[in-house]
Amino acid sequence: MKKIIMLGAPGAGKGTQAKQIAERYHIPHISTGDIFRANLKNGTELGKKAKEYMDQGLLVPDDLTCDIVMDRIRQEDCKDGFVLDGFPRTIPQAEALTEALDKINQKMDVAIDVAVPDESIVERMSGRRACLTCGATYHIVSIPTKAEGICDKCGNAVVLRDDDKPETVQKRLSVYHEQTQPLIDYYKKQNILQTVDGTQPMEEVFKAVTEILEQ
Ligand code: AMP
Repeated sequence: MKKIIMLGAPGAGKGTQAKQIAERYHIPHISTGDIFRANLKNGTELGKKAKEYMDQGLLVPDDLTCDIVMDRIRQEDCKDGFVLDGFPRTIPQAEALTEALDKINQKMDVAIDVAVPDESIVERMSGRRACLTCGATYHIVSIPTKAEGICDKCGNAVVLRDDDKPETVQKRLSVYHEQTQPLIDYYKKQNILQTVDGTQPMEEVFKAVTEILEQ
């Protein structure tokens, strides 16, 4: 069971889980947020366009987003599976994914919803820190850096991302409820939805995730 979608509100911990899944099962971790941020850092046209939306807590339009993911999952290293983190985020994106896989006689195996209530999300996001150089993510309480403010992996500074600031988080949450939450029903109907309790400690969440993937 190795074609995996991680669902969940921003800050639910799906990125952390996705990274661990990728490591454990030796499959690529495909994060659309990371792809946009890498483009932004490299000053590409795509990065510039994406930034306009990201800074406001809005979703980048589907046409920009879908092509990138479809190109990525057709690459050789994705043939034994991959974990999608932050995609799909809208029903049209989910439909585009289903259709693209259909064409090559494939389908996603499982969509795991990391469930966390809104109240906990805002609190969590304010403690989130990210390295804008290598993309590593931390949390001041649950996943602190070894040296304060310094990325363990590359030694650059870790910061509170603009889109993790409280006012943007509220906007992202309402966008999540309007546009992304309907995917829970979409994948329930496809019979591939699984839910884990994202309020547990990270290791417990990962244990629940691996139980799903290995059942
Ligand atoms: P993330 O790191 O997954 O929280 O993504 C950060 C931001 O990138 C989001 O708030 C959106 O603006 C944008 N983004 C990431 N993935 C998508 C997607 N699948 N569709 C549209 N926008 C996205």
